[in-house]
Amino acid sequence: MRIGRKNLQLDTSWQESSNCLGVDPDLFFPERGASTKEAKEVCRGCVVRNDCLEFALANGEKFGIWGGMSERERRRIRRQRALDRQAEAERLQVFAQGGTLAGDQVGASGAKTASGAR
Ligand code: SF4
Repeated sequence: MRIGRKNLQLDTSWQESSNCLGVDPDLFFPERGASTKEAKEVCRGCVVRNDCLEFALANGEKFGIWGGMSERERRRIRRQRALDRQAEAERLQVFAQGGTLAGDQVGASGAKTASGAR
């Protein structure tokens, strides 16, 4: 089922194990310029922190603290991942055109291997 946003993640079962169950939701949506310290403190020991962060990234959550990170911090991660994907695509394109993958090693037979293991 396609619902507008690409890679939309709908599974929220991880929330059942969250540290913030029963905590005032307003704590995680502070006013602009207000401290996020208290919310991040709740997130610090949360066992589903990574699930929470990935959910927010996959769904483009624009507001609040998710996975112990503010929107600005999540934006930085999204930007870095986009750059990584772009670099990987370019690397594979060079390889497809007959170039070598960065980190390629030449095996004992002289054949190039992607992992270097031969
Ligand atoms: S990481 Fe923080 S916001 Fe996310 S589920 Fe855990 S306590 Fe809640």
